[in-house]
Amino acid sequence: MSNTPDKLKKGIVFNIQKFSVHDGPGIRTIIFLKGCSLQCAWCSNPESQWLAKQLAYNPNKCLTEKACKHCRDVCPHQALSVGDDGKILWDASTCDQCLICADVCPTHALNVYGYEISVDDALKRVEEDEAFYSRSGGGVTLSGGEPLIQADFSLALLREARKRRIDTCIETCGSVPWEVLEQAGRYLNSVYYDIKSMDKTHHTKYVGASNELILDNLVKLKQTYPDLLVRVRTPVIPGFNDSKGAIGDIVDFVREMPNIEYELLAYHRMGSPKYGYLGWEYPLEGTENLSDKKFDELRRFADSRMKQNGETQRLKVVGE
Ligand code: SF4
Ligand code: SF4
Repeated sequence: MSNTPDKLKKGIVFNIQKFSVHDGPGIRTIIFLKGCSLQCAWCSNPESQWLAKQLAYNPNKCLTEKACKHCRDVCPHQALSVGDDGKILWDASTCDQCLICADVCPTHALNVYGYEISVDDALKRVEEDEAFYSRSGGGVTLSGGEPLIQADFSLALLREARKRRIDTCIETCGSVPWEVLEQAGRYLNSVYYDIKSMDKTHHTKYVGASNELILDNLVKLKQTYPDLLVRVRTPVIPGFNDSKGAIGDIVDFVREMPNIEYELLAYHRMGSPKYGYLGWEYPLEGTENLSDKKFDELRRFADSRMKQNGETQRLKVVGE
């Protein structure tokens, strides 16, 4: 831990989104941090996975080399060439991420995901919408990626937000050292916590890491902070966990815990174009969206299973 005052600490974020109503109670400002401890095959924010700033290229915005070519003039690694349509071709394997081409691109066809920001500057953005928070019970949510990967910055931001009386929430994958999550719990009003599967092998295959730390951390979080509102969320992914067996196992794990909500999120492909911009392949290419009927069926199933012990006030399944 550094001696820098909390409000001067800096982190790398890739977006600050205002007026969100899906990422914590009320109307919120979401700060999306770079870096993640997992690599979910369906990730809709692939630009969050690297901790460092990173180049992205959207050919639809390129003016063509004939009209522009600023980027090719500055690239020190010949990572940019010209395609048959006159537009730039980016070779991600040759690129060393020096990022200078993005500085000269007039249309942001070449663009950088990630920028540095201080706790104070991030919270100034959040405070612009204070009036909406007080009316709706909202505040700030740290998301990602995994916001607790940048632990020093995120903890400083949560502490400073609480000092300023801003309601705090994080969206976490739970795959972080317990000591960090334990510290975060001291400054949080609520937590949105992903559990994707109870099957360790399946989890490792699709998510890139085992679920053991994630499940242990949730148990410890609820033992340490029983009054902290935790909403457990499961993205329902076709071919991975879109069955009553898989969802039922998760519900059985969480429903005895105090002050717990549960939510299913439907798989969508909205993040898939960003994989192309990063020079990556979309891991779930060919996977169709979940039908409304199947999603609804799983939600109703989760709801009735969640209420099997009768404590319907504290145990609820929420949805869009
Ligand atoms: S970021 Fe990559 S493509 Fe851009 S100038 Fe540097 S090496 Fe070339
Ligand atoms: S600088 Fe941007 S717009 Fe110009 S050629 Fe390069 S990618 Fe295209």
